[in-house]
Amino acid sequence: MQNSHHDPVSKLIFELSKLPGIGEKTATRLSYFIVKQENSYAKSLADAILAAKEKTGLCSQCFTFTDSSPCRICANPGRDSGIICVVERPADVFSIEQTGLFRGKYHVLHGVLSPLDGIGPEELKKNCAWNSSRGSVGILRQTNNW
Ligand SMILES: [Zn+2]
Repeated sequence: MQNSHHDPVSKLIFELSKLPGIGEKTATRLSYFIVKQENSYAKSLADAILAAKEKTGLCSQCFTFTDSSPCRICANPGRDSGIICVVERPADVFSIEQTGLFRGKYHVLHGVLSPLDGIGPEELKKNCAWNSSRGSVGILRQTNNW
């Protein structure tokens, strides 16, 4: 086991292993995969990471990550502003959007769940994913009435 990250591959493994869900074993596998690819892939990956980081901010209305504020969902006149799906993380918005079932808007808490006694992130996600197909989700304005 090396105790320094002076060589470039060890440095890459070290940085990748900081990512959620990526242990040292996976980081090592990913690093060797990247090193084996054409230079253009490494450049494109590095550019994508930098661009995502530099161009992404928070939506002024729903607080999800976006490169335009308001985000495309909040700015879409076809979305129902009367139905707000409260989610824990921006990744939850992405997951729910993937289903294509929810036509309302979102409010991203960024992990702040304390005002909602008894409602954890799993319950929030379940409410949105389950109820969106039936047209009723947790409505932000109706507190304590889930
Ligand atoms: Zn938004």
